[in-house]
Amino acid sequence: MGRIAYVNGQFVPHGQAVVHIEDRGYQLADAIYEVWALFDGKLGDPEGHFVRLQRSLSELSIPMPMSRAALTLVLKEAVRRNRVTEGLLYLQVSRGVAPRQHAFPDAPIRPAVIMTVSRVNRAADEARAAKGIKVVTAPENRWSRADIKTVGLLPNSMAKQKAKEAGAMEAWYVDDLGFVTEGASSNAWIVDGEGRLRTRDTNANILRGVTRHTLLDIIAREGMPVDERPFTPAEAIGAQEAFITGAGTLVLPVVAVDGKTVGAGSPGPVATKLRRLYIEQARATAI
Ligand code: PLP
Repeated sequence: MGRIAYVNGQFVPHGQAVVHIEDRGYQLADAIYEVWALFDGKLGDPEGHFVRLQRSLSELSIPMPMSRAALTLVLKEAVRRNRVTEGLLYLQVSRGVAPRQHAFPDAPIRPAVIMTVSRVNRAADEARAAKGIKVVTAPENRWSRADIKTVGLLPNSMAKQKAKEAGAMEAWYVDDLGFVTEGASSNAWIVDGEGRLRTRDTNANILRGVTRHTLLDIIAREGMPVDERPFTPAEAIGAQEAFITGAGTLVLPVVAVDGKTVGAGSPGPVATKLRRLYIEQARATAI
């Protein structure tokens, strides 16, 4: 069975899923997106992703394309039709289709909605987590509203390409003061020399990661020391452990930054435990 996509009210074969050339998402990146991890065919961390979806839309004055209840039904139907149990669900909402001009259209237009579902190989992901990944650093060059999950991802795409060419999986942005902000598609963490978990605070220009947020709850519940304070690449290299979080990577240990080994050069106990706890909770609370 081939993949099925959702485009503006219809489920269509993936290869035939097309949008209008004057979709403002296509021409102006006037669109936002969300990604849910799928566990047992259910949406992981549902609340956090819905809340952020609504916030991203509201920050751009794009109306919710349908009620949350209706959207949940359509998202679940997209997953069901693709028969995916472990995977990722991608939702994109653009302002809609209008003759090209920079300012928003005068008359209200209907937001354009697309969804795709893809499979992930959890066994391969676990093998990768057991080995850890490498990251490289890149100068922070994004706009100042990285808190909105827009499809304007060219800087992220270029940073990822830099990582790929260096044999790494992720790029960590470094701001003008020399601190890591976040990854190109993940939030960045270390376990510092004192054994404290450190990640950038959300007053900085970063995406408020849903995985990050849930993991902070888990960390609090476990009574582990945490400090939402920035760190430099040098601190990451000197740290006991480092890792990234995101719907696509969950909690993934980092074993090298810019070619320099972090900690023992293999995934540490804290990241490994947090990965297990996150996955257990996300699986148990998926809807
Ligand atoms: N930061 C950026 C720039 C991202 O693109 C993502 C996810 O795609 C994240 C952080 C992690 O966010 P979440 O945990 O909500 O997937």
